Amino acid sequence: MTMQRIDGAHDVLKRVWGYDSFRPLQKESVQCVLDRRDSLTVLPTGGGKSICFQVPALCMDGLAVVVSPLISLMKDQVDALRSCGVAAAFINSTQGPNEKRAVADQIRSGELKLLYVAPERLLAPRTLDFLAEQNVSFVAIDEAHCISNWGHDFRPEYRGLRILKQRFPGIAVHAMTATASEPVRRDIATQLGLQQPEFLVGSFDRPNLSYRMLRSNNRMQQIVDVIERHRNESGIVYCISRKEVERTSLCLNQLGVTSLPYHAGMSDGDREANQEAFIQERCDVIVATVAFGMGIDKSNVRFVIHAGMPKSIEHYQQESGRAGRDGLESECVLIYSGGDVVTWKKIMSGEPQSYEAAAKSLDAMFDLCSAPSCRHKAIVEYFGQQYESDNCRACDVCLDEIDLVDDPIVLGQKILSCVVRLKERFGAAHTAKVLVGSGDKRVLELGHDSLSTYGLLTDAGQQAVRTWIEQLIGQGYLQRTGEYQTLSLTDSGWQLIKGQVKPQLTVADAPRSRSRSQPS
Ligand code: ADP
Repeated sequence: MTMQRIDGAHDVLKRVWGYDSFRPLQKESVQCVLDRRDSLTVLPTGGGKSICFQVPALCMDGLAVVVSPLISLMKDQVDALRSCGVAAAFINSTQGPNEKRAVADQIRSGELKLLYVAPERLLAPRTLDFLAEQNVSFVAIDEAHCISNWGHDFRPEYRGLRILKQRFPGIAVHAMTATASEPVRRDIATQLGLQQPEFLVGSFDRPNLSYRMLRSNNRMQQIVDVIERHRNESGIVYCISRKEVERTSLCLNQLGVTSLPYHAGMSDGDREANQEAFIQERCDVIVATVAFGMGIDKSNVRFVIHAGMPKSIEHYQQESGRAGRDGLESECVLIYSGGDVVTWKKIMSGEPQSYEAAAKSLDAMFDLCSAPSCRHKAIVEYFGQQYESDNCRACDVCLDEIDLVDDPIVLGQKILSCVVRLKERFGAAHTAKVLVGSGDKRVLELGHDSLSTYGLLTDAGQQAVRTWIEQLIGQGYLQRTGEYQTLSLTDSGWQLIKGQVKPQLTVADAPRSRSRSQPS
């Protein structure tokens, strides 16, 4: 890589897009493309992946082929490129024969720089044969995690992309994605047959986003509270199900917050109309399922609310990442409950082959919500990166919005001792019952009312004890194992028993009196 070439890329960035400098990792990624070296670039949503292949496409001879999963996304990108004066086009099923012919002519004449195409279209033998005869500079694969069924959005049509390295020998392939844990990253490279790829992994931290994770008590009110803080600003409310989308949007409208729904059960026309209204700022709030957002480049989304817990941290990162793409401060609020976990498990039980991995991702998400430790740090560390600061100043935990118990060591010790007394053979529900001194039939039958830890936390209430157990799991003092999810102590748990470490446990909401010493 010569300096001159990256300088050229910098000039293009400035001249065509009007940007002064590359964002973190864009330069390295552009450099790989210019060097014709296979690569995998991982940048969070809003990190600026498109520039990584668009800039070099203009610096290099020939045509860059961009694989993209959604027709709507292609059109937006091509429109945006054309408005910057770039010769870009797409081919897809919405075009008539004349349009297709015009694109083919542009390619043959060598004037086209970027061609967007869906995987199934690219892999059609006619397309492959045609492109094999053209001067292709490189292939970029957007949303590359779709090739891995370990990722969160596997698309079978992506699988066929593995033949690209054979059909276009000597042409580099560059994979781009926003979400990839280490194994998914390796899987993407393997599936695509990348040759000695450069792995470029950007920071997963989004410092301009603030995170809050609230246990649900009155979801609708909690949602409205956030929206009130952002009057006349754009925001997205994500719900788990279509039904919830409809209900929430209606409810917001009744409360005087104009919102529009968006989910896969609506007609294409209605969906598109609502999306357009949001993008063009005729409506501030869109209430949606996860179907909304992929490829929508609206840079001034000021808040993202999750009205229910997403099913993985990958999903959370991607969906919350749609806030603040312009780099300005934005707020992400997640409202969750144990019930959300049950809802997801019900949905997931329809897909038994992937259940185990999905349930694990779900538990990780729940642990992150319930652990009162810095959200920025937890998210970044989940993606295998280090977070240096002790205080992000941009999450509910670091902003001291969460009340912590005064003596978490003693409280933690009480809970862990009970797990030990139960010989590490029972789950969270049973453990909590013993701790609050429940008269539950099974507790009595097993003689657990005679344990020294029975009734140790009678005043707290079962719900609070369950929450603390979740927090101890989330912070790695306890673990759940096996089919029955029995609790046992980790090494850190034993350190806590000895008083050598300090967990963070939150003050519980006022206990409901009926949970005391009652069978449940
Ligand atoms: P991603 O695909 O990674 O989610 P995009 O490529 O859509 O991100 O870029 C997100 C936003 O950031 C876009 O509005 C884009 O124009 C802008 N952007 C990208 N790179 C730069 C840069 N170097 N300087 C300023 N803005 C940039």
